[in-house]
Amino acid sequence: MHKHIAIIGSGPAGFTAALYASRAGLGVVIFEGLQPGGQLTITTEVENYPGFVEGIQGPELMEIFRKQAHKFGAVSRYETIAKVDVSERPFQLWNERGERYTADALIIATGASAKLLGVPGESDFMGFGVSACATCDGFFFRGLNVYVVGGGDTAMEEATYLTRYVSSVTIVHRREEFRASNYMIERAKSNPKIKFMINTVVEEYIGTNVDNIKKLTHLRLRNAVTDEVTTVEADGAFVAIGHEPNTSLFKEVLDMDEVGYIETKNRSTYTNVEGVFACGDAQDSTYRQAVTAAGSGCMAAIDAERWLETTHHAQHAHV
Ligand code: NDP
Repeated sequence: MHKHIAIIGSGPAGFTAALYASRAGLGVVIFEGLQPGGQLTITTEVENYPGFVEGIQGPELMEIFRKQAHKFGAVSRYETIAKVDVSERPFQLWNERGERYTADALIIATGASAKLLGVPGESDFMGFGVSACATCDGFFFRGLNVYVVGGGDTAMEEATYLTRYVSSVTIVHRREEFRASNYMIERAKSNPKIKFMINTVVEEYIGTNVDNIKKLTHLRLRNAVTDEVTTVEADGAFVAIGHEPNTSLFKEVLDMDEVGYIETKNRSTYTNVEGVFACGDAQDSTYRQAVTAAGSGCMAAIDAERWLETTHHAQHAHV
């Protein structure tokens, strides 16, 4: 009898898992979630996904991923899973309307979300000067003056990375003390292109919108000690205040690290619950790239397929 896999999440990890599992003859349903296509749908050009010499727009790339998975029979449901029960098999999943699905195996590809400041202008200029990923977008800021917001290792790393392209980077941090490790701070401090602005918060992103072409031009900053407000010119602003894995659905059920990244066994995608596999940014706090997520999605499908082959269920699922 046909075995069924439910995949939660529709970024590169989820769609690659869907592609491999459906091509292997399994019944596959992808629950696409709140942001169909995942984080790449909020970026513009992707130049570092192998296979696209001229680069490709993030949303277009994800549409290709989706089509390729559907070609082999995987089905998308534009729903968000609100509850899961993996205590017995087949597993049970409920969407936000309370409708229930079952699955013989479950692949978690729920990804992570960059934390944002949530101040005025941020969503307006996201992708038009505001970015949450230096590795993705740094290249577009060649010769320009940009800001990095945050005081952790990510902020130091992103600022250092950006110096390959930009004229200057100013790290804006809300306190005097940095959360980043000394090594990372020293490396950033010794870089002549990096400046620091401490005790400073970004209050607003300001820019222009001419014929629907948006462009960030300034940041409104407030000194956290004196409350003095200034407006500075900015060609770009990189928000680097951390990421959050989208794994709250599995709290107390799956083993996670203290931040919430799902722990997988050795170099596989096995979680602590048999039949539940995790891939992509939901379990990777280190690389967080589309291509690594896709690679681990492939691993999850192969792990799930092999596991299903060796497992006999009294009752089969029907997603
Ligand atoms: P962190 O949580 O370590 O740091 C987040 C930073 O953003 C903090 O300085 C924090 O300020 C600031 N921040 C948080 N929210 C806001 C806000 N609303 N407004 C303004 N500032 C804010 O996250 P990272 O992503 O930097 O690092 C995550 C983990 O990954 C860490 O364990 C880090 O060590 C690791 N990492 C390691 C790297 C390496 O070793 N190569 C590279 C990158 C990450 P405050 O300090 O005031 O709370």
